[in-house]
Amino acid sequence: MTTRRPLAPGATIGILGGGQLGRMLAMAGSRLGLKSKIYSDVADAPAADVAAGLTVGSFADVEALAKFAAEVDVVTYEFENVPVVAADACLAVVPVFPPRAALAATQDRLIEKQTLAGLRIPVAPHKAVDTADDLVAAMRELGAPLLLKTRRFGYDGKGQVRVEAGDDPVAALTALGGVASIAEGMVRFDREISVLAVRGQDGEMRFYDCPENRHAEGILRTSAVPAQVAPGITALAQAHARKLAEALGYAGLLAIEFFHIDGLDGGTLIANEVAPRVHNSGHWTLDACLCSQFENHMRAVAGWPLGSTERHSDCIMENLIGHGVEAWEKLAEEPGTAVHLYGKKDARPGRKMGHVTRVRECKT
Ligand code: AMP
Repeated sequence: MTTRRPLAPGATIGILGGGQLGRMLAMAGSRLGLKSKIYSDVADAPAADVAAGLTVGSFADVEALAKFAAEVDVVTYEFENVPVVAADACLAVVPVFPPRAALAATQDRLIEKQTLAGLRIPVAPHKAVDTADDLVAAMRELGAPLLLKTRRFGYDGKGQVRVEAGDDPVAALTALGGVASIAEGMVRFDREISVLAVRGQDGEMRFYDCPENRHAEGILRTSAVPAQVAPGITALAQAHARKLAEALGYAGLLAIEFFHIDGLDGGTLIANEVAPRVHNSGHWTLDACLCSQFENHMRAVAGWPLGSTERHSDCIMENLIGHGVEAWEKLAEEPGTAVHLYGKKDARPGRKMGHVTRVRECKT
C-alpha cells in the first residue's frame, strides 16, 4: 500500500450515507479542521446537520456520485450496503477508503463467512439457502432451532427469523421475502464481544479494548468496557482483525463481532459479523479514549497518523432506542453520563435515537 501525503486541515471528506455514524464522523473530522460532505438517499439525514454539504441522490445514480466525488478530496462510507458500483463511481474520481474489497467481502453474509473461514477465523456452522429443500437439508445438517438470515441488507435483527423443528420451511423463507438466504446453526455462547481496529494507509494498526455487548431482539443495547475475557482472548480478537484487515488492504476503522465461549485457555471466539466502518459497539470511545473510533477513522481516511486508542476510563454505553430517547432531560442531569442525541425526529420503535455513556473514573 502506498503512503500518500496526509490531507491538510481544510480538506473535505465525502461520506456516503447520512445516518448517526456519518454525523459522528463529520463531528470528529471537524475537530481536526476537516470538512465533511454527505451523500444520502434521504433529505432529512442526521449527518447533514453537522456537515458542510448534503447531496440527496440515489446510490444507483453513478453520475450524481461522480459529481459528488469531484467536490471532495477522498470518499468514505458509513454503512456497508453502499453498492460496489457507487464506490466505483467515486473511485474513478478520488480515493475511496475502506477499499472496495471490504464492501464486496461484507455485503453478503455467505461471502463474509467464506472470507473469514478462508483466513481460518472460525464462524458459525452455516449453509446457503435458496429453496425450501435447501432449508430442510440445512435443518437436518445444522439441527434446529436455527437462524435463517437474508444474505444481504440485514441489520439490527431485521432480515432474520428463528426456525424451530417442525416449522414450515416455505413459510420461513416467505417471511424473509423469498430472497437468497443463509441458515446458521445456533451458537451457545457465554457472551458477545467485538474488536475495534483501525488501520492506517501505511499499514499501521491500533486496537481499542474489546467491549462486551448485549443485544435484545437483534439490536445492540449496551457495550461495557472492558469485556470480562482473558487477555489471551482480546489478543486473539485483535489477531483475527489484523489478518482480515491485511487481507483486504484495509484503511479505516474495522469492527468484528464475536461470540465468546468459555473454556480452556480463556475459551474460543466465533466471528459473527464484520463491519467495514465505525461501529455502534465503539461509541464509548468518544468518552473514554483520547481519540475516538470516529476520529481514528477520519485520520486513516485522510492519511493522517493514527491517534491513541488508549482507554482512560471504564464505561458502559447504552443505546437510546425508540421512545427511550424521551428520558433525555433526566439523563442530561445524571453525573458521569455523556449524552449523545442524533437529531432524529421520529422515535419509531427499534430506531436508534441516541446513546449515553456512563463513565467510571477507574481503570482495570
Ligand atoms: P446479527 O444480525 O447476525 O448480528 O445477529 C444479531 C444478534 O442475534 C447477535 O448479536 C446474536 O445475539 C444473535 N445471533 C446471531 N446469529 C446467531 C447464531 N448463529 N447463534 C446464536 N445467536 C445468534
